[in-house]
Parts: sequence; C-alpha cells; structure tokens
Amino acid sequence: MRLSARVRDLPPYLFAELDRRVAAKRAAGADVISLGVGDPDLPTPAHVVEALRRAAEDPGTHRYPSYYGMPAFREAIAAFYQRRFGVALDPETEVQPLIGSKEGLVHMSLALVDPGDRALVPDPGYPVYAIGTALAGGAPVSLPMSAATRFLPDLDALAVDPGTKVLWLNYPSNPTAAVADLGTFEKAVEVARGSQLLLCHDAAYSEITFDGYVAPSVLQVPGAKDVAVEFGSLSKTYNMTGWRVGYAVGNAEAIGALATVKTNLDSGVFDAVQLAAVAALTGPQDHVEEMRAVYQKRRDVVVAALLDAGMEVEPPLGSIYVWVPAPGGRSSEAFATELLDEAAVVVAPGTGYGANGEGYVRISLTIADARIEEAMERIRVRFGS
Ligand code: PMP
Repeated sequence: MRLSARVRDLPPYLFAELDRRVAAKRAAGADVISLGVGDPDLPTPAHVVEALRRAAEDPGTHRYPSYYGMPAFREAIAAFYQRRFGVALDPETEVQPLIGSKEGLVHMSLALVDPGDRALVPDPGYPVYAIGTALAGGAPVSLPMSAATRFLPDLDALAVDPGTKVLWLNYPSNPTAAVADLGTFEKAVEVARGSQLLLCHDAAYSEITFDGYVAPSVLQVPGAKDVAVEFGSLSKTYNMTGWRVGYAVGNAEAIGALATVKTNLDSGVFDAVQLAAVAALTGPQDHVEEMRAVYQKRRDVVVAALLDAGMEVEPPLGSIYVWVPAPGGRSSEAFATELLDEAAVVVAPGTGYGANGEGYVRISLTIADARIEEAMERIRVRFGS
C-alpha cells in the first residue's frame, strides 16, 4: 500500500511518548491524575438531553438531515448572535451548522486553500488550523505569540507573504487562555481587508469567561462580514463534546464554499441533535453561569497552588485552561515528564501547540474539583519551598 503524502507528512502525534509513560505509570499502580485533555466533566443540561430524547422518538428525525441544516437550528444560531453580540445574521446564507466545529475548521481550509497557498496560524495554537491547511496541500505559517504581547499577535508588524489566503485566530485561546479585545479584532479585520485574506476566528470558548469578562465576536467589528467568518461550538458552552454540533457564521461566500465542501463529504448533523441544540441555544441559560463558576473556582485552586509553588502565573479570563511557564527554565517536555514522574500528574507540553509553546505546559480544568485539588496539592508539595 502507498499512503498519500498528505497523510504521511502529518506531524507525529506529540503526546505519544507521554501517553506511553502514563500507561506505564498506571500499570505500575500509580494514581495518575490527568489534567491533559480538555473535555468537560460536567453533564449536558437535563433539558437538552430531554429535547434529544423527545426528538429521537420522532421517526421524522431518522432520515438524512438536510445538507444545510434545519432552518430552526440556523435561526437559533442567528438569534444567539443577535442576543449575545448584537450581530444580525441571515440564517439562509450566513450560517452553516457543523458536525462539531473541528470538522468545519478543517473543511474551511479545503474550501479556501490550494496546494502552495499559505495560512497564518497562531503559534502556540490549537493544532487543527495548521493540520487542516496541510491536508488541503497548503503551508501553515507561524503567527508567533508570546507572553510579551499577552499571547496576542503583533498585527502591526505582520508582513503578509503573497500567496497567503487565511488568517486564523482563536480567543479565548486554547492553549494559552489569552483573551482579545475588540481592538485586536478591528486590526485583524483591517489586515484581512488589506491583504485579501479570509479572517477565520475560532470562538469555541467565547462563553467560558471569568471575573465578569465578556468575550467579543469578530463579527462585532463594522464590516467584518466582508472578510471574516467565526466558528462556534456547543461542545464547551453546553457540555456537549460527544454530541458533535457546532456552526460557522459570517461571510456568505466563504460560508457557501464551506457548505459546498460539506455537501460532497457528509450529510449533516442528526436532526434530533439539531433540535437538542436549538433547546440549548434558546432555553434557560442559568447552567452557563453555574459552569463558569465551577471553572473559575478550579482556576483559582490551580493558580493559588502554582503561585505557592513559586511559578509565575496570572489567573486567565477565559477558556478551560491555565497556561503555565515551566519553572527554572525547564523545557515543556522536561517539566511535563517531571510532573508525571514525581507527582503522577499529567499536563500537556506546550510544544504540542507550536514551537512558541516551548517553556510552557497547559493544565486543563475539566476534571472534578477534588481531583484538581489533589493534583495541585501534589505539585505544591513537590515544588513549594
Ligand atoms: N476549537 C478549539 C480552540 C478547541 O479547543 C476545540 C476542542 N478542544 C475545538 C475547536 C473543537 O471543538 P468541537 O469540534 O467539539 O466543536
């Protein structure tokens, strides 16, 4: 068999060695606590589960869904944008339901990128933007970010090479937990307009924010719809990672191109899941506030323990992560290995998110309070003075 170059050339799975060590440690009987993966431990709200149950009992939902998504779901997404951001969207042309936002992130690259084209990707950043670009035959170009700019891109200094078609951003950020204000998005829209890029903003964590901070949408920038799309997900807001439901909104031409790719590749989201997603977006939202409080409390436990252990970390305003500088100039890999070997705690090495992730690890807040407390106590004991 001869595999495609596009698959052969994918970077190796960076956590493979760590996974092997975790398995070995567990096999040796250690009580390993994983703060590695960002997958909410809290359940989907009961009224959403109930909406799915009812919808699944209706045989009308059992057939192929419409390629473009149910009108009720598209309208619920548009209504959410109006209510939350004051942004008007045409549910017909500016909204595309997705089978989870990850699917749309990759398929948007298929819609935009030809072999040899470039896309600017946050570094450090969620790996899917670069991988989607590469799967489409394009070349991801690092958009470097560091603590010096609070993990925001230096858009004033950005020289966009010819052949660049896409600018990816993601705030609140995975993995850095950085947040952006509307000013950053205004600049990004300006750059996209000036260099004929499509600005793709991944807003997967827009609703998971702390200390009263409210995350903006790229589409709040006047004229953004000329050059931008935004991706959203029900995964984190409603604890629905397993359900696979999200959306892309914004520029109608880009949304139409994404829909063209998808009509040739998949058959949409199960109608009953779409109806449950409508219940999530239009029903009571109190659980979102409760969920923010849960993550904020965990964030505070993590940050307090890290400070006690002599690490320099600020409480993040969004996402489900804490981005931690490895103490004493250790590498990401060395610090992650030390935490595993000496505290039986798994974290994600920052290098898994790009070269600029070196020197950091990512801690996820998605496991039960008691386990996070236990993990942080072990770190406090190991590193505290
Ligand atoms: N974007 C970011 C930044 C993420 O961290 C994730 C999942 N971890 C996704 C998108 C994908 O989410 P989903 O496919 O579940 O909507």
